[in-house]
Amino acid sequence: MMTEQGGPTILFGGTFDPPHRGHVELPLRAADLIGSNRVIYMPANVNPQKSASPPIDPAHRLGMLEVALEELGDPRAMISTIELDRTEPSYSILTVRQLLEEMPTEQGPLRLLVGTDQALNFTTWKCWEEIERLAEPLVLPRAPWNREALHEAFERMQPGRSDLWMTRVLDIPEIVASSTDARNATARQESIEKIVPPSVEAYIQRHGLYA
Ligand code: ATP
Repeated sequence: MMTEQGGPTILFGGTFDPPHRGHVELPLRAADLIGSNRVIYMPANVNPQKSASPPIDPAHRLGMLEVALEELGDPRAMISTIELDRTEPSYSILTVRQLLEEMPTEQGPLRLLVGTDQALNFTTWKCWEEIERLAEPLVLPRAPWNREALHEAFERMQPGRSDLWMTRVLDIPEIVASSTDARNATARQESIEKIVPPSVEAYIQRHGLYA
């Protein structure tokens, strides 16, 4: 029988438009906490026609993530383009199923890492019960939710299951950052030094993004 090595594999999906400090650093803090040595960053495929403010070209979202993770130099961090490679935007459940099919069993269980805002939408996701079974969610704390407000919000989302959801919330210091803030600050020609890693700031300048 194969033995499990390196704990669970963390799957962290996002639009990464652009990737900010929270995106880059928090999944690795999560990995420290649960003893994981594989963090898969998964840029999402977004249908530009179906979005009021479509993200920038996927090649740039991927490019920024690449320079950010290169700069970080943590061997646990890797990027998967499974979703970008699909011709159509797709549901998380397909990605989870595909990763599990491709992952050797010794790489441990899959855990889906999401921010609080996404966790509180979880029961609207397609096949969320199957996702929960195949890749039990882990939740990153994110402003404006404190633990008490979060507990109440989980109770509203899924009555009777808020205690379980609270066990999935990681005890990690918050990083206050959002891609929206980075885009807006760039458009106003303000510094985004505090929001994104230096490599991402340089990439944005080099390619004149979000101007
Ligand atoms: P936008 O501002 O464009 O809505 P975003 O900053 O939320 O973007 P996404 O790429 O949509 O970034 O987020 C990917 C995942 O990271 C989601 O699960 C989201 O909840 C989580 N996340 C993003 N920023 C943070 C943060 N500062 N702290 C915790 N989780 C975060």
